Amino acid sequence: MVKCKICNLEFETDKSFHGHLKSHKLRMVEYYQTHEPRYDLLTGELINFKNKDYYFSNDFNNKISMKKWLKEQTPDAQKDYLKKLLLQRREKREKRREEDVEGGCVS
Ligand SMILES: [Zn+2]
Repeated sequence: MVKCKICNLEFETDKSFHGHLKSHKLRMVEYYQTHEPRYDLLTGELINFKNKDYYFSNDFNNKISMKKWLKEQTPDAQKDYLKKLLLQRREKREKRREEDVEGGCVS
């Protein structure tokens, strides 16, 4: 379930929600950067919006930022962050597999 932070309507899928954004005259990038802002942990700049997945799974706008930031962390914090990153990647891979299956049923 996705909830529109502007009008509180709920949507079954991202797709229908993203279609709904048109009624607010917003592009996806504008909606997410305004209502769910995410910032590069190193520079404090907004995360570039390429797609929703990318936006919510990246804490940096590029690998250089990430490397610089990691260098400033304690070894424990580095380990924690990299562990989180690995978990996220695994989840994403599994999610994609599920979506492939769902897509197959529809078509
Ligand atoms: Zn709305």
